[in-house]
Amino acid sequence: MKPAPFQYVAARTIEQALQLKAEYGDEARFLAGGQSLVPTMNFRLTQPAILIDINLLAELAGVKNGAGDRVRIGALTRYRNLERDPATARRLPLIHEALPHVAHPQIRNRGTIGGNLAHADPASEMPAIVVALAGRLHARSKTGERWIDAADFFVGALSTALAPDEMLVEVELPTAPARSGACFMEVSRRRGDFAIVGVAATVRLDGEGRCADARIGLCNAGEVPVLAAEAGKSLAGRKIGAPEIKEAAALVQGAIDPGGSIHASKEFQRHIAGVLTARALAAACQRAEQAA
Ligand SMILES: Cc1cc2nc3c(=O)[nH]c(=O)nc-3n(C[C@H](O)[C@H](O)[C@H](O)COP(=O)(O)OP(=O)(O)OC[C@H]3O[C@@H](n4cnc5c(N)ncnc54)[C@H](O)[C@@H]3O)c2cc1C
Repeated sequence: MKPAPFQYVAARTIEQALQLKAEYGDEARFLAGGQSLVPTMNFRLTQPAILIDINLLAELAGVKNGAGDRVRIGALTRYRNLERDPATARRLPLIHEALPHVAHPQIRNRGTIGGNLAHADPASEMPAIVVALAGRLHARSKTGERWIDAADFFVGALSTALAPDEMLVEVELPTAPARSGACFMEVSRRRGDFAIVGVAATVRLDGEGRCADARIGLCNAGEVPVLAAEAGKSLAGRKIGAPEIKEAAALVQGAIDPGGSIHASKEFQRHIAGVLTARALAAACQRAEQAA
């Protein structure tokens, strides 16, 4: 199918893009990599009156240092640039490990982290990681700016806390702390397909080798990316071994509400979530021990 007619403007400045978004609100869509937007327009699931192309806004792309041990990734940063960036591999190992699971190289050449987060597909890897890492998202409009905690950003399937006049300009994430390990794993039918379920786990150890902090995020386990907070808390202060991992995996299975699909029933998704949680936690612990 072909998209419904629309106006197209290649914005020259962020201010111009925000001015147009303020004018048209929900009738306007930003065009980033186009890898989600264009297919939905071709199926006429989305019929914007105007596309505001942000690809010329170079200041929206790239990775820079944030306050303290935090990293800021510009919304227009392409997956492929992140995937190939050695500093990202070192400072954000979860992102580095998950990126090869996102679609295919052709899509990663164009797709952007901002477009992916704003699209808010619950099966998508990056939203689960941003939630697992307790990231923050920076939104701007013609009249102001604000930071939104990742936990508050994803409000439903394909729905975010961004107002109709707002643009996502960057995402801020904490870098991997000392004595920590992380692991991302997913099951999908074929390489590059959306995950049936995916799990992002981080573990930080104290000087005695006990768990100081553990966080577990899941994709395709509910309407929004899920933070399995109780499962993470259950590990705090304990030496993590097989029984602790088993307990955390069971808590994850109890906490999620996957939607089920023709490819995987809810029960199968719940089963996979438990298996992947156990494996990802074990790998994250092992990596944390090596780092310590
Ligand atoms: C075959 C195929 C397989 C895929 N597999 C996966 C997968 O396994 N995992 C996965 O996560 N994704 C997958 N995707 C989706 C892909 O990751 C998309 O590229 C990504 O979700 C959107 O990024 P984009 O830059 O292309 O955004 P676009 O398609 O340009 O935009 C997506 C939405 O976000 C809005 N938007 C874009 N930028 C901003 C901004 N800065 N501020 C506010 N709103 C903005 C747009 O208006 C639009 O509504 C797949 C896509 C295809 C076609």
